[in-house]
Amino acid sequence: MRTLVVDHPLVAHKLTALRDETTDSPTFRRLTDELVTLLAYEATRDIRTEPVTVPTPVAPAAGVRLARPRPLVVPVLRAGLGMLDGMTRLLPTAEVGFLGMVRDEGSLVATTYATRLPEDLSGRDVFVLDPMLATGGTLVAALRLLAQRGAASVTAICLLAAPEGVARMDEAFPDDDPWPVTVVTAALDERLTDRGYITPGLGDAGDRLYGVV
Ligand code: URA
Repeated sequence: MRTLVVDHPLVAHKLTALRDETTDSPTFRRLTDELVTLLAYEATRDIRTEPVTVPTPVAPAAGVRLARPRPLVVPVLRAGLGMLDGMTRLLPTAEVGFLGMVRDEGSLVATTYATRLPEDLSGRDVFVLDPMLATGGTLVAALRLLAQRGAASVTAICLLAAPEGVARMDEAFPDDDPWPVTVVTAALDERLTDRGYITPGLGDAGDRLYGVV
C-alpha cells in the first residue's frame, strides 16, 4: 500500500482550522469541502486517461480525457458524505456509490449496514472517502468489498490518519499484493487513544459535520 501525506501550506492551514474545537459546524463543513478538493488533486494524479484530439479555433489540438469506465466515488456514511461535494467538484463525471458502515464504540469493530455499489467494478478506479483512518477496521472492510467486486484500483482519501490504521492497512494490502491501494491524507497524527480516537485529531468527524444525533 502506498501512503501519501500531502505536504502543502494550504492543506496545513485548512487542517489546523478544522482541528480547532472552536470551529463551528458550518465552517467545519466548508473547510472539509475545500480540503478534500486539494487532496483529490493529488489523489487523481494517476487516474487513467485516453488520448483525444479537439478542434481549437486555430487548429486541431492533441489532449486527453478521462478513460472509460468512469471512476467511482464512494463516501463511507455518515462522515464521508461531508467529503462528497469536494470530490465531485474535481471529478464531475464520476459515478457515486454509497457504503454505510458503523463502528461499535466498545469493540471498535466495523459493520456494514448499507451498500449501493455496482456489482461489477472491473476496470474501474475507485475513490473511497472516509475522513478518519483510525483503527483501519472500516477502511479494510470497505476495500475488501471493492476488491471482491473487481475494482482496478482503490484510493482512499482521509483527512487524517493514525499510524495504527496505516499499519493495519499495510498488513491487509501488503506491498507485494498486485492490487493497487493508495491512502492520501492531510496528516499522519501521533496515535490512537484508548477509545480509538486519533490524537491530537479533530474529534468525531461525523458529529462535527452533522451534530450529535
Ligand atoms: N472517527 C472519528 O470521527 N474520529 C476519530 O478520531 C476516530 C474515528
